[in-house]
Amino acid sequence: SALYRVEGWGAPYFVVNENGNVAVRPHGSQTLPSEEIDVMKVVKKVVGSKSLGGLGMSAPLIIRFPDVLKHRLESLQSAFDSAMRMQSYESYFQGVYPVKCNQDRYVVENIVEFGKPYAFGLEAGSKPELLLAMASMCKASPKALLVCNGYKDEEYISLALTARRPNFNCVIVLEQEEELDLVLNVSRKLSVRPVIGVRAKLRTKHGGHFGATSGEKGKFGLTSLEIVGIVRKLQKLGMLDCLQLLHFHIGSQIPCVEVLNDGVSEAAYIYSELAKLGANMKIIDIGGGLGIDYEGTKSSCSDMSVSYSLDEYAAAVVKAVRVACSQKGVKHPIICSESGRALVSHHSLLIFDVVSVHEKKDSVSAAVAGMNLNPLVDGLPEELMGEYQSVMAYTAMGDCRSSQICAEHMKARCLDLFKEGRLGLEQLATVDGMCDLVSSPAADTPAVCHVNLSIFKSIPDFWAIGQLFPVMPIHRLNERPTVRAILSDLTCDSDGKVDTFISGDDGGGSRGLPLHPFEGRSEPYYLGMFLGGAYQEALGGLHNLFGVPNVVHVVQSSGPHCFAITRALPGQTSADVLRLMMHEPNMMFTSLKCRIEDSLQLAGDCDVESAISNLNTIASTFNSLPYLSSSSSTSSF
Ligand code: PLP
Repeated sequence: SALYRVEGWGAPYFVVNENGNVAVRPHGSQTLPSEEIDVMKVVKKVVGSKSLGGLGMSAPLIIRFPDVLKHRLESLQSAFDSAMRMQSYESYFQGVYPVKCNQDRYVVENIVEFGKPYAFGLEAGSKPELLLAMASMCKASPKALLVCNGYKDEEYISLALTARRPNFNCVIVLEQEEELDLVLNVSRKLSVRPVIGVRAKLRTKHGGHFGATSGEKGKFGLTSLEIVGIVRKLQKLGMLDCLQLLHFHIGSQIPCVEVLNDGVSEAAYIYSELAKLGANMKIIDIGGGLGIDYEGTKSSCSDMSVSYSLDEYAAAVVKAVRVACSQKGVKHPIICSESGRALVSHHSLLIFDVVSVHEKKDSVSAAVAGMNLNPLVDGLPEELMGEYQSVMAYTAMGDCRSSQICAEHMKARCLDLFKEGRLGLEQLATVDGMCDLVSSPAADTPAVCHVNLSIFKSIPDFWAIGQLFPVMPIHRLNERPTVRAILSDLTCDSDGKVDTFISGDDGGGSRGLPLHPFEGRSEPYYLGMFLGGAYQEALGGLHNLFGVPNVVHVVQSSGPHCFAITRALPGQTSADVLRLMMHEPNMMFTSLKCRIEDSLQLAGDCDVESAISNLNTIASTFNSLPYLSSSSSTSSF
């Protein structure tokens, strides 16, 4: 497990058990050994045939662990509760979950259910998100906050104000100055008094990829001048009591507590000043930004890691708010956070199978020696003979760099001779082949592992922003891996690959993922992508029409295998994804059926059986998932 740094990024939820399989500790460090869930056992149950008690589903597969979600939420709450207790803070913590991180119905419903004792609420950033948040919050504590962020039009604001009627604790956060007039007009029309928040554009900025949200030039929020303008306007209208919340968001993956402290302090002084100006301030909403240590290095120098724990994060926030408010003589506010990544990343595990691995076995010199070079040598003009001999000599000596330089030069010269009509196509082809071999990567270059997955659907952030996620085999971890490989996905796109990995103890993340041989094995080889529960599902695209994979929900139970599969949700079929691009599968099927019938008639053929079989193939392809079915996977190393 040290090769994959599991202890670093996986604690306290993922371990390698004595069977050499990845196991999930659903209750974090409170999990008893007897409660650990062996992921391979879950996979076997899911992919096992129905006749043998399995679910008959195939990889790729998302396994959700609601227990982990619950543990994350409770850990966040208890980190703030204890920081507040230890610092004698005179108010409380009340979080909201930003649904944009993962809008999946069950994720949101789970959070509302698990958060009910803590009046945990939701944050929405668009009209459909607000609709889903309102519907989900019918089961939340009435005290829970419903925070409305994002750009707003009249319809959004009407919906948010409507939410106050059935007593949702809904706050409209102004992101732009113009939104105030809209809120005032609509609230007058609907006769609903709004509860308003303002989003401050802080000067504090963090340097990582996600820091572009923050700082004076950040995309979002109101400057101090704009905030004061809003206060004045509300005061004039006798509505300053409506302003109750100050929001800010420094950016996702805040790297260290120093940046956090700077940002929260700046905001806490703005909060205090707003209270002093007469606003009815109650809540400071610190946004998201609580980071995840994808790398397991506890470092503040990389977008993939953070240098603090949950407890250290909470302690720094509470301290910064307490110090500012106490200094200004302002009552301590309710602290609200919009942590998304830290809440949902761990609960979801993506499992996918390896289709094949292409490993470079021959050395370059052996491969060149094995080539038939006669056509080249026979017709090679005298002037190129010297270069040819140099390529061969350097290759035999293993001096790859020199043989590559000579070969490239020879290739260019041969093309000139071909264009002068002095070299035949056969010789040109042989020279090209030889150059390809000589320029082929060195023996320590990673193999290429083809996986049953779309990077664009399932790991879009790797493609888009180079975000690394822990990836590793979920079984055979008591065997030594023998090959390093990059992962190449099913899409017809050269970007559809993962070629950088979290480095293990050997620091080899850029040299490929250590994998086991599976030549001659009948058992599929499964890999897992961890910590992908935030953003990946919502951002994933439909490139090559690979849709949502199968999903199962797994909870810890007292049964013989310590787990129960509580939900199995089939992924999107080919028909489903075609519909998303406006195709109509029923009409498509009818057209194809007519075409088959016409061709039978034209040929005077009456092979009805084969026509039916053709139609069955078409129908079953519409109704199956676009990924490779496990029978198509072949083992080749
Ligand atoms: N709140 C706001 C306003 C955001 O823009 C974001 C995401 O960037 C979040 C909360 C969630 O942030 P994170 O996932 O880092 O917790």
